[in-house]
Amino acid sequence: MPTHPLRPVLRKLYRRLHVVQGPSGWWPGESGLEIALGAILVQHAPWAGAARALDHLRAAGVLHDTHALRALSPAQLEAHVRPAGTFRVKARRVRAFLDWLHREHAGDATRLRDVPGDELRAALLRVPGIGPETADAIALYAAGHPFFVIDASTRRLLARLGLAAPDATYEELQALFHAALPREAPLFNEYHAQIVRHGQEWCRARPRCETCPLRKEFGCTFALTSSPSSPSALPRPARRPRRRTSGSTGATGRPR
Ligand code: SF4
Repeated sequence: MPTHPLRPVLRKLYRRLHVVQGPSGWWPGESGLEIALGAILVQHAPWAGAARALDHLRAAGVLHDTHALRALSPAQLEAHVRPAGTFRVKARRVRAFLDWLHREHAGDATRLRDVPGDELRAALLRVPGIGPETADAIALYAAGHPFFVIDASTRRLLARLGLAAPDATYEELQALFHAALPREAPLFNEYHAQIVRHGQEWCRARPRCETCPLRKEFGCTFALTSSPSSPSALPRPARRPRRRTSGSTGATGRPR
């Protein structure tokens, strides 16, 4: 089978990020259930807020007990997840996920590892409030299935390095990683974490190109055409309207 044309550069990118940033140890969480809840709570929110919501659930003694979580009243659940923002929406999404987990897997998140990956992803996408990014984060980080998670950091980095079109769809970007790299969960786990960490430190919406460790090695044309002193001069690629708004983490934050 011929090698994917982007395989060498994607492998080089991974190695560079890993050397510069060191291992990530993602996703923090003592259980698959905690990781799945974190993936829902971090939607369109900084990780710090999601982490505080998880701390509230932990302090209440319900974080690792789906029966206790489901026994919470809507008002109680909303109060616990409030630090994550849009707490009523997130409480409903958490509840929908828990109901699905009980219905399909007796409330046991460890069973998700035994479900074939494609089947699990399709089922998660049918849960209200879970979109592709959240489904993939749960499938990868909570259940160990090899699905590459595409978020705003990934989209931005690939576009700025000229590896993908700025308006590529979620499916197109994920297919790129799946075709160019071995379908291995540990690799996808760490690669996504590396990209997000680089996006938090350097390739932000207003990038810090002057010190970016990728700038020279990858001949980042986005940086070369930008003036650090005048961020407003940065080229702004045309964007397609977002096709769906639910279930995306929005990638404003991720576990550090
Ligand atoms: S040089 Fe700038 S635009 Fe390019 S990857 Fe680094 S931070 Fe992003």
